[in-house]
Amino acid sequence: MLALHGTGVSDGIAIGKAFVLQRDIPEIPEYAIPQEYIEEEVARFQRAVEASRRQLLVVREHIPANAPPEAASFLDAHLLMLDDKMISMATSDAIRQQQCNAEWALKTQSDILSAMFEQMDDHYLRNKKIDVNQVVNRILRNLLQKNYDEHEKIAAGQIVVADDLTPADTVMLKHNHVHAFVTSLGGPISHTAILARSLGIPAIVSAHSATRYVRSGEELIVDGKRGMLIIAPDRNIVAEYRRRKNELARERRELNRLKTSRAITRDRRHITLLANIELPADVRAAAQAGADGIGLYRTEFLFMNRPTPPNEEEQHRAYLKVIKSLPGKPITIRTLDLGADKQVDGGRAGTTITINPALGLRAVRLCLHDTSLFRPQLRAILRASIHRNVRMMIPMLSSQDELFRVLDLIEETKSELKRSRVKFNPKMAVGGMIEVPAAAICADLFAPYLDFFSIGTNDLIQYTLAIDRVDDAVNYLYDPLHPSILRLISLTIQAGKKARIPVAMCGEMAGDPRYTSLLLGLGLTEFSMHPATMLEVKKIVRNSDVGALQRFASRVLKSRDTRAVHAMVEKLNDR
Ligand code: PEP
Ligand code: MG
Repeated sequence: MLALHGTGVSDGIAIGKAFVLQRDIPEIPEYAIPQEYIEEEVARFQRAVEASRRQLLVVREHIPANAPPEAASFLDAHLLMLDDKMISMATSDAIRQQQCNAEWALKTQSDILSAMFEQMDDHYLRNKKIDVNQVVNRILRNLLQKNYDEHEKIAAGQIVVADDLTPADTVMLKHNHVHAFVTSLGGPISHTAILARSLGIPAIVSAHSATRYVRSGEELIVDGKRGMLIIAPDRNIVAEYRRRKNELARERRELNRLKTSRAITRDRRHITLLANIELPADVRAAAQAGADGIGLYRTEFLFMNRPTPPNEEEQHRAYLKVIKSLPGKPITIRTLDLGADKQVDGGRAGTTITINPALGLRAVRLCLHDTSLFRPQLRAILRASIHRNVRMMIPMLSSQDELFRVLDLIEETKSELKRSRVKFNPKMAVGGMIEVPAAAICADLFAPYLDFFSIGTNDLIQYTLAIDRVDDAVNYLYDPLHPSILRLISLTIQAGKKARIPVAMCGEMAGDPRYTSLLLGLGLTEFSMHPATMLEVKKIVRNSDVGALQRFASRVLKSRDTRAVHAMVEKLNDR
């Protein structure tokens, strides 16, 4: 038995068999092939192509019924690529001409293709390079007789252990019904961690060397609350954890009674509890938790795990699905926040520069840089706005000028729709995320042009404290109670109040019950979170007296001792 510690990012206990996800890119050998064996080498290459085709067809047959339609088109694109002359024929020719092994010939061919795509101006075509790489890697694995599709072998109920998972991987795990996951790297507010919470499965990140110590098939216990991974536990430990798991299930059943109760404080203040969702299918969990609406719909997830972006129609259909699942409730559709750790098919969105991606072309910056990506989304959201309560939210605003450019584009899109007699709500609310320190400090300058604010504490903390969300080496600095963060939150709430626009919070801090009381005291009235913690937050809201918490919050803001702030909040929560 061995225990490893990491950062627990999603509560709960899972007991199950390990699946170690290894996805290293194969080493490519280079050797000469004697003339008389050349045709045999070409045949070996073709067998690897055929094996790749069979694997893809099997995966295609097993797409779960609830998987997004993009899953199939993604596989179709890869199947087509296997037949592409530039891959199959050109590699066979290269084996013959260079008299080299199939792996090397394929690698040379894929380098030529990558360079070609790299030179293309078109963002989507450039992203095709990633597909080519994925197809090439699959054939290479088959040539080297390595397993490629680790994902596809994951069985329901297993615990996935990996060095790292991209948000796109995590979406795929969702379809495999895994019970928990553990990564050696990653931070608590990485999108991978956020997805784990929204899936409601226990998860641990930055459990260093987990992939080195765990073997597939071994029994594991994941304690998401304590961030503990137990490898090959003995019988007594398993029994103890089963008992705790039952206890947690009992507590959850009790919380479920609050589903239909309203989020009203003891001093009769109404608090709005909204849900964060990543995919239209998540709206079910939001409705089940009794959410008052959707406070953050991360639309970029619609763009992942597929070769081409969804067109206007597909986006529109996705939005309608969400709207119709929560009739009459506010639905906040955030425009694309791609870039940084949220890549399309593992590729860097919009640029080839890889230094400091979190500070680069991300979110609204990427959308303004590549309006061919942005315009169809604006049209799709505006068309969806004929349904009451649809709001648009712009991520990562940092300057007024950027906001004006977005507002101009929205106006242009409205005129276009009007000209083609397409209906939309001309008064659709447009809000801005306050998640860059510059925007929080200047919230009063943004307020006159926006209908609401939503504070994105994940990025606000990342950018204010200069800690990369996905870098486990700086996790220890993550602190929502840092005085700078509390001051920026308070500044934003006050600016919203002064301009009479609502202020919500949709970062992870809003769904963390440890901060609910303090946020109520700071004047927050709209909380948006993954549905998994909504009832716990509601329970705290119902036991709160905002008047008393306001006095508490002003003492916290005045404190000149950060450690004392932690102690004060802990003491308040223990009461
Ligand atoms: C945030 O930054 O707090 C936020 C809600 O957006 P995301 O986590 O998608 O960056
Ligand atoms: Mg953000």
